[in-house]
Amino acid sequence: MLLACGLGRTSEMDKSKEVDKMVYKPKDAVYSGNHVVIITEEPFIEISLEKRKELMDTLSSTYPSNEIEISNFDNPYFVDAGGYFESVHCNLCGSEISMDDWTTKMEEASWVDFSSLTFETPCCGKQNSLNLLNYKPNVGFSKLQVRIVNLDYHENQAMELLNKVEAVLKIQMKVFYYNH
Ligand SMILES: [Zn+2]
Repeated sequence: MLLACGLGRTSEMDKSKEVDKMVYKPKDAVYSGNHVVIITEEPFIEISLEKRKELMDTLSSTYPSNEIEISNFDNPYFVDAGGYFESVHCNLCGSEISMDDWTTKMEEASWVDFSSLTFETPCCGKQNSLNLLNYKPNVGFSKLQVRIVNLDYHENQAMELLNKVEAVLKIQMKVFYYNH
C-alpha cells in the first residue's frame, strides 16, 4: 500500500516533465494494463527525435497490431513496474532498502526534478545513485520510455526485443514488464 502511494505520487509529479509522446495506435489494438517497457540503462542519455522515429518504425512493423508509445522527458523519469514492483536493495552492501527510506530519497531527488540522482545510502552511508540500486524487477530512470501495450510477452522474447531496440539506438537498454 505504502509502495503504491509512493510510486503514484512520484509518477504524478513527473507528468509535467513529459516533453513529447509518439503514439502508434492501430484500429484493432486492444488496450490492457499489461505493458512491455523499455528504457535506457544510463539515465541521462538523450535520444534524438530522429532516432525515436526510427525506433517507432521498427517496433510498429514488428508489432503491427499493438499500441506503442514512445515518450521523451527533459530529465530522467523513474519508470516503475506497477504491480510487478517487488523490492529495492543497495547495490553497495546488499541490504534491503525500506519503502519509507526509498520514498524519502525519491522525494528529495524530485525537488530538483531528478536532474541529480545522487544520494547517501541509509544502510551503509555511501554516495550512490538512485539509478544503481538493485530494483526487482530491473526498473530505473530514463529520459526515454517505450511501452508496448498488451504484447504477448515471454522471457525468451525479451532478449530478441532488447536486441532489436539496441540495434536501432546503439546503446544499452533495459526491458521489463509492467502491470497496472
Ligand atoms: Zn548499502
